[in-house]
Amino acid sequence: MLVLTGYLRFSVSISATSPLLGGRLCLDFVNTSVAPSSLSWDELIHFLGVSRVISSERGAQLLALPESDPQAAEGLLQKARQLCVSLRKVFTAMHRKQKIASEWAESVNDILRITEGHDELVFENGVWRIEFIAREGGLDWLLAAVARSAAELVAEGPGARLRLCANPRCGLFFYDNSRTHRRRWCSMAICGNRNKVAAFARKHSTPPQYS
Ligand SMILES: [Zn+2]
Repeated sequence: MLVLTGYLRFSVSISATSPLLGGRLCLDFVNTSVAPSSLSWDELIHFLGVSRVISSERGAQLLALPESDPQAAEGLLQKARQLCVSLRKVFTAMHRKQKIASEWAESVNDILRITEGHDELVFENGVWRIEFIAREGGLDWLLAAVARSAAELVAEGPGARLRLCANPRCGLFFYDNSRTHRRRWCSMAICGNRNKVAAFARKHSTPPQYS
């Protein structure tokens, strides 16, 4: 019954989500929570589900974990929060062309160090890419693919097309895979259109009348 309840909750939360916009797993992870230090268990598991790190069945089981094994769930959640906090600092520094502090990279290395796995060539959206397949032991493997994705992005160096949405109130990161390399918005449908509407309103607004 627990599993069934979990499964239902999981299905509902997946359908209610917005699409992943970051273009890289590590960026979508950081975008998941505006306050990384308070990332919730449900947010974490939901993210792992929509980004296909885990199946929906596994997601349903994991949603029930804080009840069945609170210590294990809390341990993983703390690691996920730490990783999220560090990655936000890393990507902010990269975006501002600033130095990445070694202690931020250490959160990535902590996970890479303890997770075993292998690379596989995966064909998706017309291109081949390398995907890290973690060996499923303990719970740390759940963060392995995110850590690997972050390591790859950092290793791209200053040439990485890491962007922050041009809407200053948005705060979402994305990887600019556009042909022109001029993508400005996390999503044209969200921030891009909002900007267009605001610009239109500015242009056509009636100047204030003074008497
Ligand atoms: Zn945006």
